[in-house]
Amino acid sequence: MHRRHFLHQTTLLASASLLFQQKAMASILQTGDFQVKMLRNNVGIFTERGGTIGFLLSKNGTIVIDAQFPDTSRHLIDELKKQQHANFLYLLNTHHHGDHTAGNITYKGLVEHVVAQENSQANQKRVAESNNTMDKQLLPDMTFKEDWKLKLDDEKIKAEYFGPGHTNGDAVYHIENANIIHAGDLMFNKRHPFVDRSAGANIGNWIKDLDGILKMAGKDTIIIFGHSLNPGEETGTIEDVKKFQDYLGKVLSFAEAEIKKGVSKEEFIKNTSIPGVTEWTGQGIDRPLTAAYEELTEKK
Ligand SMILES: [Zn+2]
Ligand SMILES: [Zn+2]
Repeated sequence: MHRRHFLHQTTLLASASLLFQQKAMASILQTGDFQVKMLRNNVGIFTERGGTIGFLLSKNGTIVIDAQFPDTSRHLIDELKKQQHANFLYLLNTHHHGDHTAGNITYKGLVEHVVAQENSQANQKRVAESNNTMDKQLLPDMTFKEDWKLKLDDEKIKAEYFGPGHTNGDAVYHIENANIIHAGDLMFNKRHPFVDRSAGANIGNWIKDLDGILKMAGKDTIIIFGHSLNPGEETGTIEDVKKFQDYLGKVLSFAEAEIKKGVSKEEFIKNTSIPGVTEWTGQGIDRPLTAAYEELTEKK
Protein backbone atom coordinates (compact mmCIF):
# COMPACT_ATOMS: atom_id res chain seq x y z
CA MET A 1 0.00 0.00 0.00
CA HIS A 2 1.34 3.40 -0.90
CA ARG A 3 0.24 6.37 1.12
CA ARG A 4 0.19 9.68 -0.63
CA HIS A 5 -0.46 13.07 0.84
CA PHE A 6 -0.73 16.52 -0.55
CA LEU A 7 -1.19 19.00 2.24
CA HIS A 8 -2.63 22.37 1.31
CA GLN A 9 -2.06 25.44 3.37
CA THR A 10 -2.41 27.94 0.59
CA THR A 11 -5.14 28.98 -1.76
CA LEU A 12 -2.65 29.13 -4.62
CA LEU A 13 -2.95 25.43 -5.17
CA ALA A 14 -6.59 25.27 -6.08
CA SER A 15 -8.89 22.37 -6.96
CA ALA A 16 -7.59 20.06 -4.29
CA SER A 17 -10.30 17.49 -4.82
CA LEU A 18 -9.43 17.14 -8.50
CA LEU A 19 -5.81 16.72 -7.52
CA PHE A 20 -6.65 13.97 -5.07
CA GLN A 21 -8.63 12.17 -7.77
CA GLN A 22 -5.65 12.38 -10.09
CA LYS A 23 -3.35 11.10 -7.37
CA ALA A 24 -5.65 8.19 -6.59
CA MET A 25 -5.44 7.17 -10.26
CA ALA A 26 -1.72 7.71 -10.43
CA SER A 27 -1.12 5.59 -7.36
CA ILE A 28 -2.29 2.54 -9.25
CA LEU A 29 0.44 3.07 -11.82
CA GLN A 30 3.28 4.28 -9.67
CA THR A 31 5.22 2.51 -6.97
CA GLY A 32 6.87 5.44 -5.20
CA ASP A 33 5.80 7.15 -2.02
CA PHE A 34 6.30 10.88 -1.90
CA GLN A 35 4.95 13.79 0.05
CA VAL A 36 4.44 17.40 -0.93
CA LYS A 37 3.76 19.86 1.85
CA MET A 38 3.18 23.61 1.60
CA LEU A 39 4.95 25.51 4.39
CA ARG A 40 4.17 29.23 4.08
CA ASN A 41 3.23 31.62 1.26
CA ASN A 42 4.04 29.74 -1.93
CA VAL A 43 6.92 27.71 -0.55
CA GLY A 44 6.77 23.98 0.02
CA ILE A 45 8.84 20.84 0.43
CA PHE A 46 8.94 17.52 -1.39
CA THR A 47 10.16 14.39 0.35
CA GLU A 48 10.65 10.93 -1.05
CA ARG A 49 14.23 9.58 -1.04
CA GLY A 50 17.36 11.65 -0.39
CA GLY A 51 17.70 15.24 0.74
CA THR A 52 14.58 17.34 1.30
CA ILE A 53 13.61 19.39 -1.77
CA GLY A 54 12.29 22.94 -1.34
CA PHE A 55 10.33 24.87 -3.97
CA LEU A 56 8.90 28.34 -4.53
CA LEU A 57 5.97 28.87 -6.88
CA SER A 58 5.69 32.35 -8.36
CA LYS A 59 3.74 34.07 -11.13
CA ASN A 60 6.88 34.26 -13.24
CA GLY A 61 8.15 30.76 -12.64
CA THR A 62 9.19 28.07 -10.22
CA ILE A 63 12.39 27.82 -8.19
CA VAL A 64 13.48 24.42 -6.89
CA ILE A 65 16.13 23.81 -4.23
CA ASP A 66 17.85 20.42 -4.63
CA ALA A 67 16.83 17.50 -6.80
CA GLN A 68 17.23 14.17 -4.99
CA PHE A 69 17.39 11.44 -7.67
CA PRO A 70 16.20 11.34 -11.30
CA ASP A 71 13.12 9.21 -10.54
CA THR A 72 11.99 11.22 -7.51
CA SER A 73 12.61 14.55 -9.26
CA ARG A 74 10.36 13.28 -12.03
CA HIS A 75 7.56 12.83 -9.47
CA LEU A 76 7.86 16.45 -8.31
CA ILE A 77 8.03 17.77 -11.88
CA ASP A 78 4.93 15.77 -12.81
CA GLU A 79 3.01 17.13 -9.80
CA LEU A 80 3.98 20.70 -10.63
CA LYS A 81 3.03 20.16 -14.28
CA LYS A 82 -0.47 19.15 -13.21
CA GLN A 83 -0.78 22.49 -11.40
CA GLN A 84 0.67 24.59 -14.22
CA HIS A 85 3.81 25.32 -12.22
CA ALA A 86 6.35 23.54 -14.42
CA ASN A 87 7.93 26.71 -15.85
CA PHE A 88 11.22 26.27 -14.03
CA LEU A 89 13.51 29.28 -13.69
CA TYR A 90 16.25 28.18 -11.32
CA LEU A 91 17.38 24.94 -9.73
CA LEU A 92 19.49 25.75 -6.68
CA ASN A 93 21.84 23.11 -5.23
CA THR A 94 22.71 23.14 -1.52
CA HIS A 95 25.81 20.94 -2.10
CA HIS A 96 27.13 18.28 -4.48
CA HIS A 97 26.07 14.97 -2.89
CA GLY A 98 24.18 12.58 -5.14
CA ASP A 99 21.08 12.52 -2.94
CA HIS A 100 20.72 16.25 -3.72
CA THR A 101 22.05 16.60 -7.28
CA ALA A 102 21.67 13.26 -9.10
CA GLY A 103 18.19 14.50 -10.05
CA ASN A 104 19.56 17.70 -11.66
CA ILE A 105 19.60 15.84 -14.96
CA THR A 106 15.80 15.51 -14.90
CA TYR A 107 15.63 19.30 -15.30
CA LYS A 108 17.80 19.31 -18.43
CA GLY A 109 16.04 21.47 -21.02
CA LEU A 110 13.36 22.41 -18.45
CA VAL A 111 15.22 24.84 -16.21
CA GLU A 112 16.96 28.07 -17.21
CA HIS A 113 19.82 27.95 -14.72
CA VAL A 114 21.36 25.63 -12.16
CA VAL A 115 23.04 27.52 -9.29
CA ALA A 116 25.57 26.34 -6.70
CA GLN A 117 28.44 27.52 -4.55
CA GLU A 118 31.61 27.24 -6.63
CA ASN A 119 33.15 24.40 -4.58
CA SER A 120 29.90 22.45 -4.91
CA GLN A 121 30.10 22.76 -8.71
CA ALA A 122 33.73 21.60 -8.66
CA ASN A 123 32.79 18.64 -6.42
CA GLN A 124 29.94 17.61 -8.72
CA LYS A 125 32.33 17.65 -11.66
CA ARG A 126 35.11 15.81 -9.82
CA VAL A 127 32.80 13.04 -8.56
CA ALA A 128 31.07 12.61 -11.94
CA GLU A 129 34.42 12.45 -13.76
CA SER A 130 35.82 9.86 -11.36
CA ASN A 131 32.63 7.75 -11.64
CA ASN A 132 32.50 8.24 -15.40
CA THR A 133 28.96 9.63 -15.11
CA MET A 134 29.35 13.10 -16.63
CA ASP A 135 26.56 12.28 -19.11
CA LYS A 136 24.19 11.75 -16.16
CA GLN A 137 25.06 15.01 -14.40
CA LEU A 138 23.59 18.45 -15.11
CA LEU A 139 26.27 20.74 -13.69
CA PRO A 140 25.51 24.20 -12.28
CA ASP A 141 26.02 26.91 -14.92
CA MET A 142 25.96 29.73 -12.36
CA THR A 143 28.16 29.78 -9.27
CA PHE A 144 28.99 32.12 -6.43
CA LYS A 145 31.76 32.33 -3.87
CA GLU A 146 30.21 33.99 -0.80
CA ASP A 147 26.70 35.08 -1.62
CA TRP A 148 24.12 35.32 -4.36
CA LYS A 149 20.78 37.11 -4.69
CA LEU A 150 17.65 36.73 -6.77
CA LYS A 151 14.54 38.91 -6.93
CA LEU A 152 11.37 37.35 -8.23
CA ASP A 153 7.92 38.97 -8.13
CA ASP A 154 7.43 39.92 -4.50
CA GLU A 155 10.00 37.43 -3.20
CA LYS A 156 13.74 37.63 -2.65
CA ILE A 157 16.16 34.74 -2.31
CA LYS A 158 19.56 35.14 -0.74
CA ALA A 159 22.23 32.44 -0.77
CA GLU A 160 25.14 32.45 1.62
CA TYR A 161 28.27 30.39 2.03
CA PHE A 162 29.80 30.22 5.51
CA GLY A 163 32.84 28.03 4.81
CA PRO A 164 33.42 24.28 5.19
CA GLY A 165 30.87 22.27 7.15
CA HIS A 166 29.22 19.08 5.91
CA THR A 167 31.33 19.58 2.73
CA ASN A 168 33.40 22.54 1.53
CA GLY A 169 30.51 23.84 -0.61
CA ASP A 170 27.33 24.06 1.48
CA ALA A 171 25.06 26.92 0.44
CA VAL A 172 22.20 28.13 2.63
CA TYR A 173 19.20 29.65 0.81
CA HIS A 174 16.93 32.17 2.52
CA ILE A 175 13.56 32.84 0.90
CA GLU A 176 13.19 36.14 2.67
CA ASN A 177 9.53 37.20 2.55
CA ALA A 178 8.22 33.72 3.26
CA ASN A 179 10.99 33.62 5.87
CA ILE A 180 12.06 30.10 5.07
CA ILE A 181 15.66 28.87 5.03
CA HIS A 182 16.86 25.73 3.25
CA ALA A 183 19.86 24.62 5.30
CA GLY A 184 20.69 21.57 3.16
CA ASP A 185 22.84 18.99 4.93
CA LEU A 186 24.16 21.54 7.40
CA MET A 187 21.10 20.29 9.29
CA PHE A 188 20.60 16.63 10.20
CA ASN A 189 17.61 16.58 12.52
CA LYS A 190 18.10 13.96 15.25
CA ARG A 191 20.13 11.89 12.82
CA HIS A 192 23.88 11.30 12.97
CA PRO A 193 25.33 13.30 10.08
CA PHE A 194 27.59 12.35 7.21
CA VAL A 195 30.78 14.38 7.44
CA ASP A 196 32.42 14.36 4.01
CA ARG A 197 36.09 14.90 4.80
CA SER A 198 36.96 13.81 1.24
CA ALA A 199 35.18 17.02 0.15
CA GLY A 200 36.67 19.29 2.81
CA ALA A 201 34.15 18.86 5.64
CA ASN A 202 35.07 20.28 9.04
CA ILE A 203 33.01 19.86 12.22
CA GLY A 204 34.67 22.77 14.04
CA ASN A 205 33.75 25.15 11.24
CA TRP A 206 30.33 23.50 10.80
CA ILE A 207 29.45 24.81 14.28
CA LYS A 208 30.30 28.31 13.00
CA ASP A 209 28.20 27.75 9.86
CA LEU A 210 25.24 27.10 12.14
CA ASP A 211 25.94 30.47 13.82
CA GLY A 212 25.62 31.95 10.32
CA ILE A 213 22.20 30.32 9.92
CA LEU A 214 21.15 31.58 13.36
CA LYS A 215 22.16 35.08 12.30
CA MET A 216 20.08 34.83 9.10
CA ALA A 217 17.05 33.47 10.94
CA GLY A 218 14.57 34.79 13.47
CA LYS A 219 12.26 32.99 15.83
CA ASP A 220 9.52 32.67 13.18
CA THR A 221 11.82 31.34 10.46
CA ILE A 222 10.95 27.90 9.15
CA ILE A 223 14.14 25.94 8.51
CA ILE A 224 14.23 23.08 6.03
CA PHE A 225 16.60 20.28 7.02
CA GLY A 226 18.50 18.11 4.53
CA HIS A 227 17.66 15.02 6.54
CA SER A 228 15.61 13.99 9.54
CA LEU A 229 15.55 10.75 11.51
CA ASN A 230 11.76 10.86 11.76
CA PRO A 231 9.55 11.33 8.69
CA GLY A 232 7.57 14.55 9.00
CA GLU A 233 10.32 16.36 10.92
CA GLU A 234 12.12 17.75 7.85
CA THR A 235 11.45 21.31 9.00
CA GLY A 236 11.82 23.16 12.30
CA THR A 237 13.09 26.32 13.92
CA ILE A 238 16.24 27.95 15.26
CA GLU A 239 15.76 25.84 18.40
CA ASP A 240 16.53 22.74 16.31
CA VAL A 241 19.60 24.44 14.84
CA LYS A 242 20.85 25.24 18.35
CA LYS A 243 20.31 21.62 19.41
CA PHE A 244 22.28 20.31 16.43
CA GLN A 245 25.03 22.82 17.11
CA ASP A 246 25.17 21.60 20.70
CA TYR A 247 25.33 17.99 19.44
CA LEU A 248 28.29 18.77 17.14
CA GLY A 249 30.06 20.51 20.00
CA LYS A 250 29.58 17.44 22.20
CA VAL A 251 30.92 15.14 19.45
CA LEU A 252 34.09 17.24 19.24
CA SER A 253 34.63 17.59 22.99
CA PHE A 254 34.07 13.85 23.48
CA ALA A 255 36.70 13.10 20.82
CA GLU A 256 39.10 15.61 22.31
CA ALA A 257 38.82 14.10 25.80
CA GLU A 258 39.27 10.53 24.57
CA ILE A 259 42.26 11.45 22.37
CA LYS A 260 43.88 13.05 25.42
CA LYS A 261 43.41 9.78 27.31
CA GLY A 262 45.24 7.97 24.52
CA VAL A 263 42.21 6.09 23.16
CA SER A 264 42.84 4.82 19.60
CA LYS A 265 40.59 5.71 16.68
CA GLU A 266 39.52 2.06 16.36
CA GLU A 267 38.42 2.00 20.01
CA PHE A 268 36.83 5.45 19.89
CA ILE A 269 34.51 4.74 16.97
CA LYS A 270 33.10 1.70 18.78
CA ASN A 271 31.24 4.05 21.14
CA THR A 272 27.48 3.73 20.90
CA SER A 273 26.62 7.02 22.58
CA ILE A 274 28.00 10.53 23.07
CA PRO A 275 28.05 11.95 26.61
CA GLY A 276 25.17 14.39 27.11
CA VAL A 277 23.49 13.57 23.76
CA THR A 278 20.01 12.06 24.05
CA GLU A 279 18.09 13.21 20.98
CA TRP A 280 20.45 11.98 18.27
CA THR A 281 19.95 8.25 17.98
CA GLY A 282 19.78 5.54 15.36
CA GLN A 283 22.34 4.34 12.86
CA GLY A 284 25.60 5.92 11.87
CA ILE A 285 27.19 7.24 15.08
CA ASP A 286 30.55 6.01 13.73
CA ARG A 287 30.40 8.69 10.99
CA PRO A 288 30.70 11.79 13.21
CA LEU A 289 33.00 9.94 15.66
CA THR A 290 35.42 8.98 12.87
CA ALA A 291 35.38 12.48 11.40
CA ALA A 292 35.89 14.17 14.77
CA TYR A 293 38.81 11.92 15.65
CA GLU A 294 40.47 12.48 12.27
CA GLU A 295 39.86 16.21 12.36
CA LEU A 296 41.46 16.59 15.80
CA THR A 297 44.47 14.40 15.03
CA GLU A 298 45.25 15.50 11.47
CA LYS A 299 48.56 17.20 10.85
CA LYS A 300 48.02 20.80 9.91
ZN1 LIG B 1 22.03 14.46 1.93
ZN1 LIG C 1 25.18 15.68 1.90
